Amino acid sequence: MRVKILGSAAGGGFPQWNCACPNCRRARDGTLNGSVRTQVQVAVSHDDSSWYLLSASPDLPRQIEAFPKLHPTARSRETPIAALVLPGADLDQLLGLIMLRESQPLRVYATPSIRRIIIENNIIFAMVRNQIVWEDLTLGKECELTSVNGEKSGIRCLPFALSGSYPHFVSGEMAASLPSNEALLGLRLEAPGSGTLIYMPGAPSMEAAWLQHLENCDLLLLDGTFWTDDELIRIQGSGRSARQMGHMPISGAEGSLQKLADLRKPRKIFIHVNNTNPILDEDSAEYRQVREAGWEVAQDGQEFTL
Ligand SMILES: [Zn+2]
Repeated sequence: MRVKILGSAAGGGFPQWNCACPNCRRARDGTLNGSVRTQVQVAVSHDDSSWYLLSASPDLPRQIEAFPKLHPTARSRETPIAALVLPGADLDQLLGLIMLRESQPLRVYATPSIRRIIIENNIIFAMVRNQIVWEDLTLGKECELTSVNGEKSGIRCLPFALSGSYPHFVSGEMAASLPSNEALLGLRLEAPGSGTLIYMPGAPSMEAAWLQHLENCDLLLLDGTFWTDDELIRIQGSGRSARQMGHMPISGAEGSLQKLADLRKPRKIFIHVNNTNPILDEDSAEYRQVREAGWEVAQDGQEFTL
């Protein structure tokens, strides 16, 4: 199985258009030892010709152009993109659906609740509703990813519930009517003869129920949004904490570095990194700490064979 990181930043990308935090400022003036990044997007393939997109980043059009394997093939309107899998309803992982309009048939895997949000809660998604063939993701139930034309991929996907909540743009009335365990997923993907990928771009906490998946995988792409819980509050002067936004921070006694200190098997990579996170600066003490603990920081364009 091939795994391609098309985008590695959190919502807003890096640098973010309205941000002048030290990272964004230095990324713009060329004094940062680090890379610019687009919003989180991963693609996987078992046969190297049909590709499954994990998340739907608003940056998809340029991410597709940057990766020739995703370019349309011989016939006009024929795309190697076989289907999309949505792990959550945050806009940075949903808006890409709108970028894929143009009457192209799409198969989209999502929980019934996320499907309802897209169909009923947001008028702008009306543009793509008729293109989409929906496929339910059922918690704890493995399914084989299949293209919109019905070709099986060999890649099996197991969705598991993370204790997430529905994003703010979902009306309170609708959020209250939806089961909370369908809001946010971790995805385990594997194919015959290949290793196992765990994709968790949003992780509010670390729970025993899904720790076993992490211990047994080969490649872990984990929520690396914030370094500290109060990161945005300190930089903006107000706002919500990392945990209130559904992201466990990397540092601290309750952070992911400490909580996963005993994780031995997988290659461990932080993804969905917010522009304020000091690990984007490769000269920083925080970047060094992450590397010394055996973790990497995802970059756009990285590719893995499992
Ligand atoms: Zn910034």
